[in-house]
Amino acid sequence: MLCTLVLGVLALAVPASRAAAQENARFYPQTGYTIADGAFWDFFRQRGGLRTFGYPVSNPFVLSGFRVQIFQREILQQQPDGSVTMMNILDEGLMPYTRINGSTFPAADPEVLARQPQVGAPDYHVKALQFVKDYAPDMWQGLKVNFYQTFANSVRAQEAFPDGRVSPGLLLGFNLEIWGLPTSKPAFDPANAGFVYLRFQRGIMHFDTSTGTTQGLLLADYVKSILTLRTLPPDLDSQARGSPLYGQFDPRMVSSVKQPRDLPASDLSDAFRREPTVMVDAGHGGRETGATYKFPDGSMLMEKDLNLKVATRLAELLREGGINAMQSRTADSQLNGSRDLTADGKVNLSDELQARVDRANEMRADLLVSVHFNGVTDASRRGTQVFYADGRPFVDRNRALAELTQSHLVKALKEAGYETIDRKATVDTIVLGHGAHYFLLGPASEHVKRPTEMPGIIGEPLFVTNPDDANALRQDRIQAAIARGYAEAVKAYFKQFPVT
Ligand SMILES: [Zn+2]
Repeated sequence: MLCTLVLGVLALAVPASRAAAQENARFYPQTGYTIADGAFWDFFRQRGGLRTFGYPVSNPFVLSGFRVQIFQREILQQQPDGSVTMMNILDEGLMPYTRINGSTFPAADPEVLARQPQVGAPDYHVKALQFVKDYAPDMWQGLKVNFYQTFANSVRAQEAFPDGRVSPGLLLGFNLEIWGLPTSKPAFDPANAGFVYLRFQRGIMHFDTSTGTTQGLLLADYVKSILTLRTLPPDLDSQARGSPLYGQFDPRMVSSVKQPRDLPASDLSDAFRREPTVMVDAGHGGRETGATYKFPDGSMLMEKDLNLKVATRLAELLREGGINAMQSRTADSQLNGSRDLTADGKVNLSDELQARVDRANEMRADLLVSVHFNGVTDASRRGTQVFYADGRPFVDRNRALAELTQSHLVKALKEAGYETIDRKATVDTIVLGHGAHYFLLGPASEHVKRPTEMPGIIGEPLFVTNPDDANALRQDRIQAAIARGYAEAVKAYFKQFPVT
């Protein structure tokens, strides 16, 4: 009895800290990176946050002697005195390019550059702001391009001055800090008359006539692409071949730098290491009970409850192991309300499944683990089975995850004293028929318009409908063993396929 009490207290104490870690406001699951550094975080928060910078796409690392962190729109750089500035990402040496992913931007215009006020000149700030007014118009060729408004509203008063003591002059200075000065005149995209661009020192503003919106392009993300050669558009690739950054990220080399002579005083080792992200899906929920079993004493075992218990435990185990785990549901409920997410004129189970797929895709999960238990009319059927889909570009990863999960589930159940039947990792088409897939696992089809974009499995560790399996499932140590089996499989998977 004493043991139970002590364990109960511990169990209460631990989830609070886990919840805090999970709700870390500086972690962005959209990209998998955190803004952990205090100086970078303060700068980010006080200069417009996501609106100005986009999501972080790297960890802090050393680039050319400076500590930097790459965001989608900007690169933050820490000076030797600890202060933070933004890099001129469009400068020579970083991204002086004009063609990216089919879009053509104006190049820096020598005539505009010649008229820029010189840094250090008397009244520099006044002259600089006048220069922005002159070269970043709100109206251009009859279009409401809003370039100056966008500049002037980049940083908002309450963000820059959380104490409420707003200094308007300083606010404009912050905007200048973010954009720098215009370096071109406005220009249409030669391939798309609906787009107007204006080049600044630290960004390119993009006006889209179809939406009437003006925003900064996600240019800094391309600096990462140049370093890693991942998702590097062919037009940018051909311009960046001679860049000292080109393809420099190589984890096999010292400091992960391929040619240190071209990129001295740099260490990319930690730059793109990130926590893997797993979507843990507790199958069913709410009015969808899944499989059920009625014990002789009248008590009911419902699959939806077991799924949630095991999924919650699994998510905790993964977080303890440094893996970012998200749950599709944490209560006895459905994700989708009354939205017709599949746009077929009906609201049904497909919309609920689409909601789970969409969530996993939005979170850019590296894996989807859907926790279920089996149920059939034949009560004698028992055992452990894991399903995966073929017909996907990442079928090798699907199979690897399914086989790891299958073997770890069987092993964990054995260790907990329950001899299960190994029904093997199984392709879903074998049970569903040729070309048919589970909604959560399969490719795009007539029924699935937006499929999952990551490897995934559906686990069926035991049969709710079999008396022996059901009896085992009632026991806490069996539920714990199943969660452990899944967690070990996921960890083994990421050893085999590390995220980068
Ligand atoms: Zn199920």
